[in-house]
Amino acid sequence: TTPATDVYPRKILEYMEGFLISKTVFTSCELGVFDVLLAAERPLSAEEISQAVGTSLDGTQRLLAACTGLQLLNTHWDSGQVFYSNTEQSRVFLTRSSPLSLSQSIQYSSRTIYLCWHYLTDAVREGRNQYEKAFGVSSKDLFQALYRSDEEMVKFMHLMNSIWNICGRDVVTAFDLTPFKFICDLGGCSGALAKQCTLAYPECTVTIFDLPKVVRVSGEHFVTEADQRISFHEGDFFKDSLPVADLYILARILHDWTDERCTELLCRIYKACKPGGAVLLVEALLNEDGSGPLTAQLYSLNMLVQTEGRERTGAQYAALLAASGFTNIQHRLTGKIYDTVLGHKET
Ligand code: SAM
Repeated sequence: TTPATDVYPRKILEYMEGFLISKTVFTSCELGVFDVLLAAERPLSAEEISQAVGTSLDGTQRLLAACTGLQLLNTHWDSGQVFYSNTEQSRVFLTRSSPLSLSQSIQYSSRTIYLCWHYLTDAVREGRNQYEKAFGVSSKDLFQALYRSDEEMVKFMHLMNSIWNICGRDVVTAFDLTPFKFICDLGGCSGALAKQCTLAYPECTVTIFDLPKVVRVSGEHFVTEADQRISFHEGDFFKDSLPVADLYILARILHDWTDERCTELLCRIYKACKPGGAVLLVEALLNEDGSGPLTAQLYSLNMLVQTEGRERTGAQYAALLAASGFTNIQHRLTGKIYDTVLGHKET
């Protein structure tokens, strides 16, 4: 006889409706529910919240109930009426003003990634990203498509920025990077990982290398003058000469590109690198046998709908590094989303 658990498809039902959860979180963040609760400094009723965010009472009541079920809000009962407050995690990660806020990432997921994933079936069928269908822009030049307007570029930069406040320290300390004094963060974007390097290694300086318009926005809005050990270098890492450094960081760069483009970039880095220097890859590593982690498997699909690349195993990255001249290649898992691979250039 079949056990009862096998005839009730709990997991499949959960997966079928997983997007309802994502959308509930997206909407609550977009409306500012968690921000209103933070500002109030006391539990609020559904009426008070609906007035503050300008929404219907009925819709708000249902949204708040769902957030309670998701354990994103606490409820308090008083004289038969329900009041809501943020849970600790919502206060820290879902309010806009929190230093560890994920609200910008959630907004990017809601407004960009979710729309691309609408075409996942086409992406799998065609084996390529879906920018043309989702946004009506040519995807011939990947970053021209991603940065189709200044507004989109800034949103993308916020997306890139927020995760390093949460797990940046783990990736920059997975290997001891103390020997490397001159670090170049290629595709360093908003500088969030550069900041983590300067915090973890008091003697290093970091140059953020990125496309000119990214460097401009990063210098104006993300990296303050107080970060004196951080500087910028504008350029195209496939075309322009790279700054000389002891260590090159490539965080979430290779996963954007095909093996051929990765090798092209790594060979350029190998040439520029000082003897005895190294390259540090920061990526979500797939298990060697393809068994997981689920996050990396899903990210690889995300790379399909959005980029020209994929997520890879430690061995696949090691092969790319070795093909470009790097030796003594090792990887370290952090137990969080992003892991690291280090390859050396011999002295
Ligand atoms: N390293 C950052 C991080 O992990 O948060 C950003 C990763 S983001 C996926 C890729 C970065 O590479 C963007 O900042 C983008 O502007 C930059 N980039 C893309 N093509 C580039 C090129 N040809 N030359 C220089 N930078 C480039």
